[in-house]
Amino acid sequence: MAEQLNRRRFMGGLGAGAGLLWASPSFAQSLFGPRDGIVRLSANENPYGPSPKALNAINEAATRGAYYPGRAFRALTAMIAEANNLPVESVVITSGSSSVLRAAGVAFAQHGAILLPGLTFDGPLRHAERLGRELRRIPLDASMGIDLPAMQNALKHDVGLVYVCNPNNPTGIALPPAELRSFCRAVGKIAPVLVDEAYNELTDDPDASSMVDLVREGEPVIVTRTFSKIFGLAGLRIGYAMAPPELAATIRKHTTSNSNALGMAAALASYDDEPFLTYSKDKVRQGREMVLDTFQRHEVPTLPSQANFVYADIGRDADRFQEAMMARGVSIRGIYNPYTTWSRVSMGRLEDLEVFSRVFSETYSAG
Ligand code: PLP
Repeated sequence: MAEQLNRRRFMGGLGAGAGLLWASPSFAQSLFGPRDGIVRLSANENPYGPSPKALNAINEAATRGAYYPGRAFRALTAMIAEANNLPVESVVITSGSSSVLRAAGVAFAQHGAILLPGLTFDGPLRHAERLGRELRRIPLDASMGIDLPAMQNALKHDVGLVYVCNPNNPTGIALPPAELRSFCRAVGKIAPVLVDEAYNELTDDPDASSMVDLVREGEPVIVTRTFSKIFGLAGLRIGYAMAPPELAATIRKHTTSNSNALGMAAALASYDDEPFLTYSKDKVRQGREMVLDTFQRHEVPTLPSQANFVYADIGRDADRFQEAMMARGVSIRGIYNPYTTWSRVSMGRLEDLEVFSRVFSETYSAG
């Protein structure tokens, strides 16, 4: 009975009777992505995706949805390996990179604490914390960059994994590649370093920013990437890690998710779709300028971002400001502790950012 009631409430929450819902031509709109009338600038997605090539691939793959996707899995693994000049044993594909981050956290936290920046994308690593492992957070430096020297100083033999997000989320700041490279080499002598490169493709110089060359050299470095950001496939859940084969095998043993056929089809079709990637990067850059302009007009301090979001000090409670923006139809992020007055705004379509600009000005001026 309770189950029935819950189910009814759940389906009712979708805004239509279930039967009607599936028959409706707008069912995708009612179930996926932002609700009608909401501008979503809170999840660092790329609303210009999926690319036309990815959409074709998804449609074709769907006709073979009856079958387990083993061959596609091997094809995508081989493609990622080849593009990065790595053996296939170095690539671990999961359902979104959150999943591979959780697996790595659990795998290596068995040997000691996870050392990570005081403000970063820590959600998947908290899984290890829930299993009783320690997350050891090192505060950001005075410019809100990741404090690599402080992290290196904090390194002891009871550390099992070091996590660095580059560019960092939510700050958007990218580390100087040479500094990060020598940090990885030094720290790797004690514990593996996981470099989360979810936003790598959006940086000014993705090749120079990436630590994948250290993976090739066999250093104890794990690089994670995702198809959720520039590729515009967040809903299709494909992410991956690249690591020397032994570390990759350890992570693989701890993965709990399988990738799905449609996501892999889309990823295969998008991986080297240069026109779409260039177009998306260009839109992100234009968007960032618009958002920075808006903040500047109100003298709101911002950080230099190399990703598809901007972090700004709005000088007031960020959760309350988030609510006020949401009441006007714009979704942005609230507080990431301990930075209670900072908000993160993701890039949307340029027309959405025009709405942001207007709504931000109204809300900010209203006090
Ligand atoms: N890593 C970073 C730094 C992120 O910001 C995100 C998502 O926002 C992810 C990983 C996870 O993305 P996904 O699980 O969609 O691959």
